[in-house]
Amino acid sequence: MLKIAWSPVYKYELPEGHRFPMLKYELIPEQLLYEGTVTEANFFHPDPLPEAVALRTHTQEYWDKLTRVTLSDREVRAIGFPINEKFVERGRHIANGTIQCARFALEHGCALNVAGGTHHAFADRGEGFCCFNDQAVAANYLLDHGLAHRILIVDLDVHQGNGTAAIFRNEPRVFTFSMHGERNYPLRKEQSDLDLGLPDGTGDTAYLRLLRDTLPRLADDFQPDFIFYQSGVDVLASDKLGRLDLSREGCRERDRIVLSYARQHRIPVAVSMGGGYSPRIADIVEAHANTFRVAMEVFG
Ligand SMILES: [Zn+2]
Repeated sequence: MLKIAWSPVYKYELPEGHRFPMLKYELIPEQLLYEGTVTEANFFHPDPLPEAVALRTHTQEYWDKLTRVTLSDREVRAIGFPINEKFVERGRHIANGTIQCARFALEHGCALNVAGGTHHAFADRGEGFCCFNDQAVAANYLLDHGLAHRILIVDLDVHQGNGTAAIFRNEPRVFTFSMHGERNYPLRKEQSDLDLGLPDGTGDTAYLRLLRDTLPRLADDFQPDFIFYQSGVDVLASDKLGRLDLSREGCRERDRIVLSYARQHRIPVAVSMGGGYSPRIADIVEAHANTFRVAMEVFG
Protein backbone atom coordinates (compact mmCIF):
# COMPACT_ATOMS: atom_id res chain seq x y z
CA MET A 1 0.00 0.00 0.00
CA LEU A 2 1.40 3.34 -1.10
CA LYS A 3 1.02 5.74 1.84
CA ILE A 4 0.62 9.46 1.24
CA ALA A 5 1.06 12.17 3.87
CA TRP A 6 -1.50 14.92 3.64
CA SER A 7 -3.37 17.11 6.09
CA PRO A 8 -5.82 19.99 5.75
CA VAL A 9 -3.21 22.17 7.50
CA TYR A 10 -0.97 21.84 4.41
CA LYS A 11 -2.92 24.58 2.73
CA TYR A 12 -2.01 27.86 4.35
CA GLU A 13 -4.10 30.98 3.81
CA LEU A 14 -1.98 33.54 1.97
CA PRO A 15 -2.71 37.18 1.29
CA GLU A 16 -4.43 37.84 -2.03
CA GLY A 17 -1.96 37.90 -4.91
CA HIS A 18 0.86 36.01 -3.15
CA ARG A 19 2.94 34.26 -5.79
CA PHE A 20 3.07 30.84 -4.12
CA PRO A 21 0.52 28.37 -5.60
CA MET A 22 -0.79 27.18 -2.24
CA LEU A 23 -3.92 25.75 -3.85
CA LYS A 24 -1.91 22.83 -5.20
CA TYR A 25 -1.92 21.15 -1.80
CA GLU A 26 -5.70 20.83 -2.07
CA LEU A 27 -5.89 20.02 -5.76
CA ILE A 28 -3.29 17.23 -5.89
CA PRO A 29 -5.15 14.84 -3.55
CA GLU A 30 -8.48 15.82 -5.11
CA GLN A 31 -7.22 15.01 -8.61
CA LEU A 32 -5.68 11.69 -7.52
CA LEU A 33 -8.91 10.63 -5.80
CA TYR A 34 -11.09 11.86 -8.65
CA GLU A 35 -9.25 9.91 -11.32
CA GLY A 36 -8.96 6.80 -9.12
CA THR A 37 -5.16 6.68 -8.92
CA VAL A 38 -5.53 6.41 -5.14
CA THR A 39 -8.29 5.98 -2.59
CA GLU A 40 -8.87 7.59 0.82
CA ALA A 41 -7.09 4.57 2.34
CA ASN A 42 -3.79 5.70 0.85
CA PHE A 43 -3.76 8.94 2.84
CA PHE A 44 -2.70 9.53 6.41
CA HIS A 45 -2.60 12.71 8.50
CA PRO A 46 0.87 13.25 9.93
CA ASP A 47 1.52 14.29 13.53
CA PRO A 48 3.41 17.51 14.33
CA LEU A 49 7.19 17.34 14.50
CA PRO A 50 8.35 17.01 18.13
CA GLU A 51 10.86 19.57 19.32
CA ALA A 52 13.48 16.97 20.27
CA VAL A 53 13.44 15.52 16.76
CA ALA A 54 13.62 18.95 15.13
CA LEU A 55 16.64 19.87 17.26
CA ARG A 56 18.70 17.08 15.76
CA THR A 57 18.71 19.16 12.56
CA HIS A 58 17.74 22.71 13.51
CA THR A 59 19.23 24.94 16.20
CA GLN A 60 17.39 25.65 19.45
CA GLU A 61 17.53 29.35 18.72
CA TYR A 62 15.86 28.96 15.33
CA TRP A 63 13.25 26.57 16.74
CA ASP A 64 12.40 29.05 19.49
CA LYS A 65 12.14 31.95 17.06
CA LEU A 66 9.79 29.96 14.83
CA THR A 67 7.56 28.50 17.53
CA ARG A 68 7.37 31.80 19.44
CA VAL A 69 6.91 33.68 16.17
CA THR A 70 9.77 36.05 16.94
CA LEU A 71 11.76 35.95 13.70
CA SER A 72 13.05 39.34 12.57
CA ASP A 73 11.45 41.03 9.55
CA ARG A 74 14.51 40.16 7.52
CA GLU A 75 14.23 36.48 8.49
CA VAL A 76 10.54 36.45 7.62
CA ARG A 77 11.22 38.08 4.25
CA ALA A 78 13.86 35.44 3.48
CA ILE A 79 11.27 32.70 4.01
CA GLY A 80 8.77 34.54 1.83
CA PHE A 81 5.53 33.75 3.68
CA PRO A 82 3.79 35.77 6.37
CA ILE A 83 4.58 33.80 9.53
CA ASN A 84 2.22 33.03 12.37
CA GLU A 85 1.57 30.04 14.62
CA LYS A 86 -0.52 28.33 11.96
CA PHE A 87 2.33 28.49 9.49
CA VAL A 88 4.76 26.95 11.97
CA GLU A 89 2.24 24.22 12.82
CA ARG A 90 1.88 23.51 9.13
CA GLY A 91 5.67 23.21 8.76
CA ARG A 92 5.82 20.82 11.71
CA HIS A 93 3.15 18.56 10.20
CA ILE A 94 4.86 18.55 6.81
CA ALA A 95 8.28 17.73 8.26
CA ASN A 96 6.89 14.95 10.40
CA GLY A 97 4.94 13.74 7.38
CA THR A 98 8.26 13.05 5.68
CA ILE A 99 9.48 11.13 8.75
CA GLN A 100 6.31 9.04 8.73
CA CYS A 101 6.65 8.54 4.96
CA ALA A 102 10.18 7.28 5.53
CA ARG A 103 8.87 4.71 8.01
CA PHE A 104 6.14 3.62 5.60
CA ALA A 105 8.70 3.40 2.79
CA LEU A 106 10.75 0.97 4.88
CA GLU A 107 7.66 -1.22 5.03
CA HIS A 108 6.14 -0.74 1.56
CA GLY A 109 9.06 0.42 -0.61
CA CYS A 110 7.76 3.91 -1.28
CA ALA A 111 5.71 6.67 0.34
CA LEU A 112 5.01 10.23 -0.70
CA ASN A 113 4.38 13.53 1.01
CA VAL A 114 2.01 15.91 -0.82
CA ALA A 115 4.18 18.78 0.43
CA GLY A 116 7.77 19.07 1.70
CA GLY A 117 11.00 19.11 -0.22
CA THR A 118 11.78 22.26 1.74
CA HIS A 119 15.45 22.07 0.82
CA HIS A 120 16.29 25.78 1.27
CA ALA A 121 15.94 25.52 5.06
CA PHE A 122 19.28 25.57 6.88
CA ALA A 123 19.97 24.46 10.45
CA ASP A 124 19.55 27.99 11.77
CA ARG A 125 17.39 29.80 9.22
CA GLY A 126 14.84 29.43 6.48
CA GLU A 127 14.61 30.89 3.01
CA GLY A 128 12.85 30.40 -0.34
CA PHE A 129 9.46 29.26 1.06
CA CYS A 130 11.13 26.75 3.44
CA CYS A 131 11.18 26.79 7.25
CA PHE A 132 11.98 23.22 8.40
CA ASN A 133 14.09 20.99 6.15
CA ASP A 134 11.82 17.94 6.02
CA GLN A 135 14.18 15.56 4.24
CA ALA A 136 17.12 16.51 6.46
CA VAL A 137 14.99 16.05 9.58
CA ALA A 138 13.78 12.66 8.33
CA ALA A 139 17.27 11.53 7.27
CA ASN A 140 18.63 12.32 10.74
CA TYR A 141 15.67 10.50 12.28
CA LEU A 142 16.44 7.35 10.29
CA LEU A 143 20.14 7.50 11.20
CA ASP A 144 19.42 8.10 14.89
CA HIS A 145 16.99 5.19 15.07
CA GLY A 146 19.28 2.80 13.20
CA LEU A 147 16.66 2.52 10.44
CA ALA A 148 19.09 3.52 7.70
CA HIS A 149 22.86 3.85 7.56
CA ARG A 150 23.64 5.28 4.14
CA ILE A 151 21.15 7.76 2.80
CA LEU A 152 21.08 9.23 -0.69
CA ILE A 153 19.17 12.46 -1.24
CA VAL A 154 18.22 12.91 -4.89
CA ASP A 155 17.19 16.53 -5.31
CA LEU A 156 15.82 17.23 -8.79
CA ASP A 157 14.04 20.50 -8.05
CA VAL A 158 15.27 23.18 -10.45
CA HIS A 159 16.77 25.06 -7.49
CA GLN A 160 19.85 23.76 -5.71
CA GLY A 161 19.21 21.98 -2.41
CA ASN A 162 21.43 24.48 -0.62
CA GLY A 163 20.05 23.98 2.91
CA THR A 164 20.29 20.20 2.62
CA ALA A 165 23.84 20.41 1.26
CA ALA A 166 24.95 22.66 4.13
CA ILE A 167 23.26 20.54 6.83
CA PHE A 168 25.00 17.35 5.67
CA ARG A 169 28.33 18.81 4.59
CA ASN A 170 30.14 16.90 7.33
CA GLU A 171 27.90 13.83 7.47
CA PRO A 172 29.46 10.98 5.47
CA ARG A 173 26.39 8.77 5.96
CA VAL A 174 24.28 11.12 3.85
CA PHE A 175 25.11 11.73 0.19
CA THR A 176 23.52 14.87 -1.24
CA PHE A 177 22.95 14.92 -5.01
CA SER A 178 21.45 18.05 -6.54
CA MET A 179 20.75 18.52 -10.24
CA HIS A 180 19.55 22.07 -10.85
CA GLY A 181 19.64 25.16 -13.02
CA GLU A 182 23.13 26.62 -12.63
CA ARG A 183 21.95 30.17 -13.20
CA ASN A 184 18.92 29.82 -10.99
CA TYR A 185 18.31 30.67 -7.32
CA PRO A 186 20.17 30.40 -4.99
CA LEU A 187 22.75 32.73 -6.46
CA ARG A 188 25.41 31.53 -4.04
CA LYS A 189 25.36 27.72 -4.17
CA GLU A 190 26.40 25.47 -1.31
CA GLN A 191 28.47 22.38 -1.99
CA SER A 192 26.52 19.13 -2.26
CA ASP A 193 28.35 15.81 -2.50
CA LEU A 194 27.45 15.97 -6.17
CA ASP A 195 26.16 19.09 -7.89
CA LEU A 196 25.15 19.06 -11.53
CA GLY A 197 24.42 22.66 -12.52
CA LEU A 198 22.62 22.73 -15.86
CA PRO A 199 22.42 25.54 -18.43
CA ASP A 200 19.14 27.31 -19.21
CA GLY A 201 17.04 25.49 -21.81
CA THR A 202 18.61 22.06 -21.18
CA GLY A 203 15.51 20.18 -22.38
CA ASP A 204 14.34 16.56 -22.08
CA THR A 205 16.97 14.73 -24.08
CA ALA A 206 20.09 16.12 -22.43
CA TYR A 207 18.47 16.17 -18.97
CA LEU A 208 17.26 12.58 -19.03
CA ARG A 209 20.48 11.28 -20.54
CA LEU A 210 22.47 12.91 -17.76
CA LEU A 211 20.19 11.54 -15.05
CA ARG A 212 20.26 8.03 -16.55
CA ASP A 213 24.06 8.16 -16.67
CA THR A 214 24.55 9.63 -13.22
CA LEU A 215 22.06 8.08 -10.82
CA PRO A 216 22.98 4.38 -11.21
CA ARG A 217 26.69 5.19 -11.15
CA LEU A 218 26.57 7.23 -7.99
CA ALA A 219 24.15 4.89 -6.23
CA ASP A 220 26.26 1.87 -7.15
CA ASP A 221 29.28 3.67 -5.66
CA PHE A 222 27.60 4.95 -2.51
CA GLN A 223 25.36 1.90 -1.88
CA PRO A 224 22.49 3.68 -0.13
CA ASP A 225 20.00 1.78 2.00
CA PHE A 226 17.49 4.63 1.78
CA ILE A 227 16.65 7.34 -0.79
CA PHE A 228 14.89 10.66 -0.33
CA TYR A 229 13.64 12.10 -3.59
CA GLN A 230 12.80 15.79 -4.01
CA SER A 231 10.60 15.85 -7.10
CA GLY A 232 10.12 19.60 -7.71
CA VAL A 233 8.22 20.31 -10.92
CA ASP A 234 9.80 23.72 -11.50
CA VAL A 235 11.92 21.98 -14.17
CA LEU A 236 8.97 22.34 -16.57
CA ALA A 237 9.19 24.56 -19.63
CA SER A 238 6.00 26.26 -18.44
CA ASP A 239 7.57 27.24 -15.11
CA LYS A 240 8.12 30.95 -14.61
CA LEU A 241 11.20 30.43 -12.39
CA GLY A 242 12.60 27.24 -13.90
CA ARG A 243 14.26 27.83 -17.28
CA LEU A 244 15.24 24.16 -17.78
CA ASP A 245 12.61 23.50 -20.46
CA LEU A 246 11.44 20.01 -19.60
CA SER A 247 8.20 18.78 -21.12
CA ARG A 248 5.55 17.27 -18.89
CA GLU A 249 6.41 13.85 -20.31
CA GLY A 250 10.10 14.49 -19.68
CA CYS A 251 9.34 15.36 -16.08
CA ARG A 252 7.33 12.15 -15.73
CA GLU A 253 10.19 10.14 -17.22
CA ARG A 254 12.53 11.75 -14.69
CA ASP A 255 10.30 10.45 -11.87
CA ARG A 256 10.21 7.03 -13.50
CA ILE A 257 14.02 6.85 -13.66
CA VAL A 258 14.40 7.58 -9.94
CA LEU A 259 11.53 5.45 -8.66
CA SER A 260 12.34 2.49 -10.95
CA TYR A 261 15.94 2.56 -9.80
CA ALA A 262 14.84 2.41 -6.16
CA ARG A 263 12.38 -0.39 -6.88
CA GLN A 264 14.86 -2.45 -8.91
CA HIS A 265 17.48 -2.23 -6.22
CA ARG A 266 15.02 -2.65 -3.35
CA ILE A 267 15.99 0.66 -1.79
CA PRO A 268 13.10 2.30 0.10
CA VAL A 269 12.28 5.77 -1.20
CA ALA A 270 10.40 8.67 0.41
CA VAL A 271 9.25 11.40 -1.97
CA SER A 272 8.61 15.08 -1.16
CA MET A 273 7.00 17.25 -3.80
CA GLY A 274 9.19 20.39 -3.95
CA GLY A 275 8.49 23.50 -6.00
CA GLY A 276 6.41 24.30 -9.05
CA TYR A 277 5.59 27.78 -10.35
CA SER A 278 3.88 27.38 -13.70
CA PRO A 279 1.38 30.21 -14.23
CA ARG A 280 -1.43 27.70 -14.85
CA ILE A 281 -2.07 25.73 -11.65
CA ALA A 282 -3.28 22.81 -13.81
CA ASP A 283 0.27 22.40 -15.17
CA ILE A 284 1.67 22.20 -11.63
CA VAL A 285 -0.98 19.79 -10.36
CA GLU A 286 -0.73 17.57 -13.42
CA ALA A 287 3.06 17.27 -13.14
CA HIS A 288 2.91 16.52 -9.39
CA ALA A 289 0.08 14.04 -10.00
CA ASN A 290 2.37 12.28 -12.47
CA THR A 291 4.83 11.59 -9.66
CA PHE A 292 2.06 9.75 -7.78
CA ARG A 293 0.89 7.95 -10.95
CA VAL A 294 4.43 6.75 -11.65
CA ALA A 295 4.81 5.64 -8.02
CA MET A 296 1.61 3.62 -8.37
CA GLU A 297 2.86 2.06 -11.63
CA VAL A 298 6.22 1.17 -10.15
CA PHE A 299 5.22 0.17 -6.61
CA GLY A 300 1.45 -0.32 -6.73
ZN1 LIG B 1 12.37 24.95 -6.58
